[in-house]
Amino acid sequence: MAVQRAQADVFRPYGRKELAALLRRSSLTEQYRREAQAVAEVLPFRTNSYVVDHLIDWSAVPDDPMFRLTFPQPDMLPLDDRLRVAGLLDASASRALLGEAVRGIRSRLNPHPAGQLERNVPTAGRQGQSGEQGERGIPGIQHKYRETVLFFPRRGQTCHAYCTYCFRWAQFVGDTDLKFAGDVEPLVRYLREHTEVTDVLVTGGDPLVMSAGLLARCVEPLLDGGLEHVSTIRLGTKSLSYWPHRFLTDPDSEELLALFRRIVAAGRHLVVMAHYSHPRELSTDVALEAVRRVRETGATVRVQAPVIRGVNDEAGLWAELWSSAVRLGMVPYYMFVERDTGPQDYFAVPLVRAWEIFRDSAAQVSGLGRTARGPVMSADEGKVCVDGVLNLGDDEVFVLRYLQARRPSWVGRPFLARFDPRATWFSQLAPVSGVPDSSPWARLPGGLTPQGAGAGR
Ligand SMILES: *Cc1c(COP(=O)(O)O)cnc(C)c1O
Ligand code: SF4
Repeated sequence: MAVQRAQADVFRPYGRKELAALLRRSSLTEQYRREAQAVAEVLPFRTNSYVVDHLIDWSAVPDDPMFRLTFPQPDMLPLDDRLRVAGLLDASASRALLGEAVRGIRSRLNPHPAGQLERNVPTAGRQGQSGEQGERGIPGIQHKYRETVLFFPRRGQTCHAYCTYCFRWAQFVGDTDLKFAGDVEPLVRYLREHTEVTDVLVTGGDPLVMSAGLLARCVEPLLDGGLEHVSTIRLGTKSLSYWPHRFLTDPDSEELLALFRRIVAAGRHLVVMAHYSHPRELSTDVALEAVRRVRETGATVRVQAPVIRGVNDEAGLWAELWSSAVRLGMVPYYMFVERDTGPQDYFAVPLVRAWEIFRDSAAQVSGLGRTARGPVMSADEGKVCVDGVLNLGDDEVFVLRYLQARRPSWVGRPFLARFDPRATWFSQLAPVSGVPDSSPWARLPGGLTPQGAGAGR
């Protein structure tokens, strides 16, 4: 299909300055618009013409899931906070006064969730326990799991639109500076010495906001001699959803696809880790064509997203997402639990609810859709999957399992936690008393009850 480049295909980002005009597309109350504007002073807001014109159903706003996905909502902040900011805006308060109020509010939103600051910013120097000493002081690299290194290229630290739930929100408002991002030369030096690494995951932000030329400078050095152990290159991106034209009509779309083909031709497994939050993101012709073009290069596409209240907290939606993905030749991968940062009261789903959604979705799709795993929490020590809830005598317990761990020996071993219907994150869970084998608890930093101390592993 020859794709013509029309006006509508030119990337047009919208931010806080355009918010008032965008909100007039729908019959929202004056109060709603004023408070949403206040929220946009505190949390990042960025969307684009494609999301606004083709993904959001404006007749269903404010409940529309795609609207909730990218637009600031009043209830993302406590009432007091948003009224204070709205008041300052109404009074045309000075930037200094406004900035002071905004900083105070941000600091109460857990801007740097557990381990993120220390462990995702290698320059801060704190290390995991798996011998990844070499990462110390190398900006742009995180090496948490033995086989996989994350690479945050300096120029890929933004996105075509921002998700309201993004755990990198502090970075997008300029609160965390970008010193953790880096260049490819130190990465290559690191990888030459770390032959245990099989996967490099290029991530952000969204690395596909970079031009094809810049991306090539980040990725092609990984194809060099001496790095054959890096058999898989993954690109973490939401551009298939937020800006599918990236693969169709951007000035460098063909160059981008040619880069994908070169990676595949070099014998590497290229995986696009595609963030899709809702089946509607796979409903437009351009979205489908983008998937087809990426697959045609020989790349594999894997599909993942967090469960978010009011966006995708329904089993039917995940079943539809996974079966659409399979039909299009993509592979369902992770259903995440969103991290405990930002407006978490706004988006958080109880773990037990996330598990029910996962279970009921899996039940509705064929085995090929059940390659998805979850719900998964990316916690400090590893990726913890909620496998379910069991009756244990008179008690109910969560059955959990590490899918990934800083200590590889923890992977795949089930363990238990006390059932808590309100818990939304790992840190809120506690060991089960009287059960000797609740193993990883005993070794978690912060010294939770040494329940499993006898179950030495
Ligand atoms: C999820 C994740 C990875 C990749 O893990 P896989 O299970 O191989 O997809 C690597 N590093 C970090 C920090 C992660 O959170
Ligand atoms: S696409 Fe990913 S990095 Fe970008 S805002 Fe959404 S969750 Fe955050």
